[in-house]
Amino acid sequence: MTKILSVNAGSSSLKFKLLNMPEEDVIAEGVIERIGAGLDQDDNVTIKLNGEKHKSRQEFDDHEQAINFMLAQFKELGIVKDFNEIKGIGHRVVAGGEWFNKSVLVDDEVLKKVERLAAYAPLHNAANALGIRAFSKIIPEAVEVVVFDTAFHQTMPKENYLYAIPYEYYTKYGVRRYGAHGTSHKYVAEQAAKLLGKPLEDLKLITMHLGAGASITAIKNGKSYDTSMGFSPLAGLMMATRSGDVDYSLMNYVKGKEGLSDQETLDILNHKSGLLGVSTISSDMRDLLDVYDTNDHAKLAVDMFVDRVVDYIGQYYFELQGADALVFTAGIGENSIPVRKMVIDKLAFLGVKLDEEANSKRGSATEITTADSKIKAFMIPTNEELEIARDVQRLMK
Ligand code: ADP
Repeated sequence: MTKILSVNAGSSSLKFKLLNMPEEDVIAEGVIERIGAGLDQDDNVTIKLNGEKHKSRQEFDDHEQAINFMLAQFKELGIVKDFNEIKGIGHRVVAGGEWFNKSVLVDDEVLKKVERLAAYAPLHNAANALGIRAFSKIIPEAVEVVVFDTAFHQTMPKENYLYAIPYEYYTKYGVRRYGAHGTSHKYVAEQAAKLLGKPLEDLKLITMHLGAGASITAIKNGKSYDTSMGFSPLAGLMMATRSGDVDYSLMNYVKGKEGLSDQETLDILNHKSGLLGVSTISSDMRDLLDVYDTNDHAKLAVDMFVDRVVDYIGQYYFELQGADALVFTAGIGENSIPVRKMVIDKLAFLGVKLDEEANSKRGSATEITTADSKIKAFMIPTNEELEIARDVQRLMK
């Protein structure tokens, strides 16, 4: 039994899960928020242990302070007696560029590359690197591994990852489609293969990570073949507050009309668009579904979201020349019975049939289509932390 810690450092947050491996049992998990952001009224630290939530309010200037506090809490709550019990630490890193097509052990050179890649994901990679540095200082004996959100998508063929812009921008600056949520797409694809009782290498899958951030991946022979997020996680589907794909010249036009700076324009596309922008009331799918029948804007936002998902399924169905299964995951994909129904119902002409009874359940992975459905669909809860811990364990050997 080895204790492995999965860490996801965001710009102002730190999410973590401590697992016993290879048993894959969760010992404790939690989140620290408002790092370097000052406190508000609410508790900003939550640690879940044996089904109980331990909450507190604590100010942190930086990630190192937050990590020190988290580890001190581990001792106080009896989660570990000694920090050295944690033998491995897996860090989720957002951008891996073309340098990383799989998870790797952390060394100086890797860390420098993670920092250099911050140009591609300014808020995320910088925080990821801070997290790695802090842990190396506090538990130097632990094996540290970086797991990249983009790594799984490095198998995409060039015709799918290049943009139709002057080629020199790709060679000079590495601008191309990198995708995201790779750890999640990979995890649910592996789970789907188990449910189908077939090797992943033999399967064509369309995996849909529909959370606040959302992306769809076409998986061919177990490998990412195409994905909806692009150079950055702004691209592809309509999301909670992100626009997804828009015509570049449209925003250039609005920018002129409204007198916006480049940064303000990007902010609008990242934080004020998507479900929030169209509905004008909320970025949360639950709120919009609650008033779907009474609020035209909410209905429109939900219908557009579903429409974009179906567009990508269509595109990837053709790209893959068929599909063995569709997989729904993440906040909306796992929990929203109506969204799954709306998507599947639009595929009826292909002979895809929803099993209403199976679709009405939440919780563990389940097939949500009928036995005679031409394409199977599954709801599979994602578990990026477990996928990270598995990579750490594999690399520790
Ligand atoms: P992220 O990890 O990208 O922050 P999540 O995967 O946690 O996002 O998904 C969060 C989103 O899931 C919320 O914004 C909300 O819209 C949606 N969600 C959660 N539960 C439900 C539900 N029961 N019905 C519809 N949407 C839900």
